[in-house]
Parts: sequence; structure tokens; C-alpha cells
Amino acid sequence: MKKVFFLISFVVLTSIVNAQDQHSQSINPLQKLIDGNERFINGKSIHPDESMSRVQEIKSAQHPFAIIVSCSDSRVSPEIVFDQGLGDIFSIRTAGNVIGDLELGSIEYAVEHLHCNLIVVLGHENCGAIKAFLDDNGEKHNDHIGKILEYLSEEIEEQEAGVKVNHSVPLAVQANVKHGVTLLEHSKPILEESVEHKQLKIVGALYDLSTGKVTFNH
Ligand SMILES: [Zn+2]
Repeated sequence: MKKVFFLISFVVLTSIVNAQDQHSQSINPLQKLIDGNERFINGKSIHPDESMSRVQEIKSAQHPFAIIVSCSDSRVSPEIVFDQGLGDIFSIRTAGNVIGDLELGSIEYAVEHLHCNLIVVLGHENCGAIKAFLDDNGEKHNDHIGKILEYLSEEIEEQEAGVKVNHSVPLAVQANVKHGVTLLEHSKPILEESVEHKQLKIVGALYDLSTGKVTFNH
């Protein structure tokens, strides 16, 4: 009798776990991030996929469901603000979430080989890289930080928004996100083609440092 009970419990439990698995797979990647951020800002993070069994589960292959291009800023950690865990997010981080050839190569790898179908370009309030760009008076930099400022100054979206004239950090942050999205959408050959074939969605988003909330522009 005990054995039968154990067997029934096991079958029921397995089907619940399977149903949950199927449920989480059926949620679209963007909704997964929205839900995770909602849990985070409400103090209800569940810290998924952090166990040793998760380590074992993904030891031979990774299947992240989203690529997040965010700032290296220590206050904007994607896995934490979206309440995700190991193997969930393919993360690209640079100061000012700038995207050069090396970052593009990593993103292409995740789209082409890991089959990620969502990229989020995540900017944030009060970004230090953006502030440095606005404060820069065009003097020559002999360090590599100058490369980041150069990238920002070449953005068409930034010029259109007139951020340098108005010295507006929020405008510049938004323009920089918009630039990242446009750059990725038109990056040849892999990304542009994937977007055209509706196999890839690219969205911009902003992280609020005081509330922890991520607002998506979609
Ligand atoms: Zn930043």
C-alpha cells in the first residue's frame, strides 16, 4: 500500500513539475522578464535557477531565453533585477551599454547558436558614462574611456534629441538606448535578417535606480 501511495505521489508530483515547466516555457521571453522585475520590485523574488541541481541541469548546454545588453554599473545586474538565475540570461555589459564589434559578435553567437529570440537594450537613470559624455568638452583622451565617449558622440539619435545642447542626462540615456536598438536591428547579416524573419525581437528598456523598476519601450 505504501509503495502504491509513493508511486501515485511521484506521478502526481512529476506531472505538476512538468506542467510548471511547460508553463514557464510557454510564457514569452519578454513577459518572463516583466514578471521577474515585478517580483523584484515587490520584494517577492523567488531566486530561480540558483541551485546545484540547476548547475547540473545546464552543465552540458545553455539555453538562455533572452540577451540583455546593459550597463556595467554595479547597481544594474540583470539576473537580480529580473529575478532570474543561471542559464537564463545571456548578458552583455559595458559602461554606458555601448555596443561595438566585439559585443555584436557575442550577440550574434547567442542569436545564431543559442537561438535567443529576444534582445533587451537596458539603459538606466543617471548613467555615469552618459554623464561623462555630457561633461566632456572634446579634450583628447589618451585612455580607453575616450572610446566610449567617442561612441556616444557619434550617435545620430543623441544629436537629434539635442542632448548635448540641453545637457540632459535622461534625454541622452533614452537616445543611447534608442541608438542601441536601431544599431542591432540593422546589424548585418545575422540580426537584421532574424528581425525581418520575425525570429528576433529587439526592445529598449530603462531601469529606475530608485525603484528598481524596468520600463520597456515596446
Ligand atoms: Zn551606466
